[in-house]
Amino acid sequence: MEQTSKKVIVSLKDIFVRFDGEVILNHISLDIREKEFVTILGPSGCGKTTTLRIIGGFVEPESGDVIFDGERINGLPPHKRNVNTVFQKYSLFPHLNVFDNVAFGLKLKKLPKDEIKRKVSKMLAVVDLKGYEKRPVQKLSGGQQQRVAIARALVCDPDIILLDEPLGALDLKLRKDMQIELKDIQKSTQKTFIYVTHDQEEALTMSDRVVVMNNGVIEQIGTPEDIYNEPVNAFVADFIGEANILNGTMIDDCRIRILGTELECVDKGFGRNTPVDVVIRPEDIMITSPEEGQLVGVVEKLTFKGVHYEMSIRCGKCEILVHSTSSAAIGSTVGMSVVPFNIQIMNKLLPFYDNIIETEVSSSDESANTFSFELEGVTVEVPNHYFPEGTRLRVTLPPEALSLAGDGDGDLQDVFIESVIYKGEHNEIILESDERKWLMLSDTDEQVATYVPLNFDFEKAEFEVLDPEPAAREG
Ligand code: ATP
Repeated sequence: MEQTSKKVIVSLKDIFVRFDGEVILNHISLDIREKEFVTILGPSGCGKTTTLRIIGGFVEPESGDVIFDGERINGLPPHKRNVNTVFQKYSLFPHLNVFDNVAFGLKLKKLPKDEIKRKVSKMLAVVDLKGYEKRPVQKLSGGQQQRVAIARALVCDPDIILLDEPLGALDLKLRKDMQIELKDIQKSTQKTFIYVTHDQEEALTMSDRVVVMNNGVIEQIGTPEDIYNEPVNAFVADFIGEANILNGTMIDDCRIRILGTELECVDKGFGRNTPVDVVIRPEDIMITSPEEGQLVGVVEKLTFKGVHYEMSIRCGKCEILVHSTSSAAIGSTVGMSVVPFNIQIMNKLLPFYDNIIETEVSSSDESANTFSFELEGVTVEVPNHYFPEGTRLRVTLPPEALSLAGDGDGDLQDVFIESVIYKGEHNEIILESDERKWLMLSDTDEQVATYVPLNFDFEKAEFEVLDPEPAAREG
């Protein structure tokens, strides 16, 4: 492929960044090739801007290498790097006109006047602002101001342009027009564009490759088609486009069970009877008669979306989203079928969840029928259960025993929400505390990348008394 033959222009190797003791980039590595349009995509707070700022030289990583053109350039100040940045807030000089804004960097370089004029005119033509030279920038529309900012970044002829949500302030229509224009500008100038956004549609529209980030790590790098059609895990599938993400069991190679039904698929190598996540895009489900369907369900919601109908179909406890050019009436029973190729199988985000605590009873009160144990530096009290002090216990908390508490309440404070994935029935939420990850179920939407108090319902827990520690036994 053409992509792979191009020279790598920027490499990040094993980059680690911490702010205020908190890990922001957790050993990320990334190669960017010349003339590529690469988009860093991910939810708010995942580390996109920090990654861009490391390339720009505004943030220095705690460890890892920043390599430009094969040379390690850690510590090199921004103005000495072959890059220029376009920010969301265009940071134009309000008192200067369009020409002087674009010419600013060239004047600093003390280029001859006629050369500055030639370069600025050429760049204004590229961004479709020919004839706007004398206009005050404050009298331009948002889209025009953004084009001035892009011209200003391009005019000094850097190899790499960094763009941090540059279309964020524009309204939807203008934003869509500018996406196409930006891609055209990148093609015509043959520069490397590294673009940051949290808008998946924008990323798919413009990019040669997309880097999907989550919580300080890179989840997947690929062409827009790759990440849409072959997401590596439920996070990517959920973040890119609409998807039915279901719990399934890989029975054997090319055989999957979902919603109590066995289906043929094309994936191999997951092992036998392995719990997996299964992705089926709404447009890949065909509506059939109930007799012909692999799955059968009842239409609960029907919305006309212009090109297709969107149907929500209840299949047992699960809700399945279907996009189809034909519709079925609300309340009708329909069949659904999917060709094996369109069933994507993925490893679970959290293969072995750790809602199991091995601990020792730190205090107990038989008359009150309670006991306590220490968990990650806090004392957790368990009502309606008694074990004598010193008893070693294994406490198993099924996902349904976990809930998010109100402010200040909760057995554990400040637990980080790493991902929220709707599985047709509940949200499956992965949480991270100081020492472990937790899996919980919820019917409400929660905001990823926030900190919440976590509560345990010990009525749903299992307690198993473990053998005493060898030392205690001997004593
Ligand atoms: P957004 O889309 O909201 O801009 P992002 O993915 O670009 O998010 P970053 O701006 O890279 O995320 O920030 C990642 C995390 O690092 C956030 O939690 C942010 O609060 C924190 N952070 C960023 N810069 C600093 C800083 N200079 N000091 C302390 N924390 C910071």
